[in-house]
Amino acid sequence: MGRSPDRPYARPRVRPWTVGRWEMWQLRGPVIAVVLLVCATATLLVGVEIGPLRPTAHEILTTCALVVLGLVHTEIVSRVERMRRRVSDTSYYDFSSVWTFAAALLLPPPLAATVVVAVYLHLWVRVWRPAKSPLYRNIYTTAAVVLAAQAAHAVVSTSGGAPRWSAGAGGLAVLALAVVVYALVNNILVITVIALQDMPAAGRGRVRHLLGEVDDIALEMATLSLGALTAVSVTLNPWLVLLVLVPLVVLHRADMARQLEQRAAMDGKTGLLNAAAWHDKAERALHRAQRQGAAAGVLILDLDHFKSVNDTYGHLAGDAVLAAVAATLRAEVREGDVVGRFGGEEFVVLLRDLDLTSAGHRQMATIAERIRARIAELAVAVHTPDGPLTIDGVSISVGGVFDLGRTCTLQQVLGAADAALYSAKRDGRNLVRFGPPGAPVPAFPGRSPA
Ligand code: GH3
Ligand code: MG
Ligand code: MG
Repeated sequence: MGRSPDRPYARPRVRPWTVGRWEMWQLRGPVIAVVLLVCATATLLVGVEIGPLRPTAHEILTTCALVVLGLVHTEIVSRVERMRRRVSDTSYYDFSSVWTFAAALLLPPPLAATVVVAVYLHLWVRVWRPAKSPLYRNIYTTAAVVLAAQAAHAVVSTSGGAPRWSAGAGGLAVLALAVVVYALVNNILVITVIALQDMPAAGRGRVRHLLGEVDDIALEMATLSLGALTAVSVTLNPWLVLLVLVPLVVLHRADMARQLEQRAAMDGKTGLLNAAAWHDKAERALHRAQRQGAAAGVLILDLDHFKSVNDTYGHLAGDAVLAAVAATLRAEVREGDVVGRFGGEEFVVLLRDLDLTSAGHRQMATIAERIRARIAELAVAVHTPDGPLTIDGVSISVGGVFDLGRTCTLQQVLGAADAALYSAKRDGRNLVRFGPPGAPVPAFPGRSPA
């Protein structure tokens, strides 16, 4: 599947034959419907094509070779993969599409499906199950890959099959189209279920995150390109396929290093940047803004009387509120803005690309006020030892500084925003206040700066 929701806690193991206790039944209704529909469609399409199938000896040999290579590949990288599976938060990408995409190009759909099922079954036993990933997710992943392989096969077979795609610039165009179709079908199926499951709780910020970053897309394209090269080398000299294993193992290790780097920059409770990573990123953004003569702004936000939330509902409930506040912050700012958890119940946001004039200052005040209002509206569903309950009435105080492209350091901007935050606290909390002295505070209706 490549991407899956967070798995923060170990689950009790459910035996696959106790259908009534499958974790899948805990998903939302529409998600269960999509999962069943995709699995049924994949099974039906493969089933229909098995009847007329008359495989040649070469096709059977190719099927066996791709299965063996897929299994050997998983065995070589299984330790690194289990670690990658554990450290990845939302996006987990497996590299088996080298074999499944090659199978889609080279083999009739039922044989390609055999390669997919064999490789993913083995992957589940060796990587996913030890990492406590539920079985339904593996089955859905397998079905989505079977459908992606069918779609890619349709592209190459309608354009003339192997003689066509293994030669000339036209062949390259066919392969490129097959890569795009495979990636699209697979990603649409996977993102649909995750978005349906997560959207109501996490909002558009989370869904935007699911679409993946440039690095993820590059990785997927690299894997599918290796798959295409695998297929071409099978038609030339099958032994050349062994050369694919080397770059594949290097790709695994490079991706794990990238994920560990991302993990080190992240605050575990909220998924935002931690204080050190925020500082680095914000400093770069502020310098860039100052170099380009643009405006940036900083907001420091501190939850009001948060200690009493912990005292009343417990620390786990407090953590759920922190996560909900973080999701709200992410959803209320733009993609390029830098959002971090400063520590405890304090958050910090650097807003980029603001207008250099007073319009930018007003824009920033609008954003700060909107964040304050959204957090005041939050209703966070939590599970306590006494049962489920909803926490509302949370509020936040906000201190902001609009930096007019002057040569202030981040430390100075932060100091001024902190002073503004304290005046918001002093003036009664659940307020937005702006500094530093000298920057005019924009008029704002309601509870915002007076
Ligand atoms: P004020 O309006 O003045 O900011 O009051 P406050 O209660 O929010 O401020 P104070 O600094 O006294 O308390 C902060 C509280 O935040 C204390 C601590 O228990 C809580 N806190 C800090 N980090 C975490 C965390 O990671 N999880 C939870 N649940 N609570 C945390
Ligand atoms: Mg505080
Ligand atoms: Mg506080």
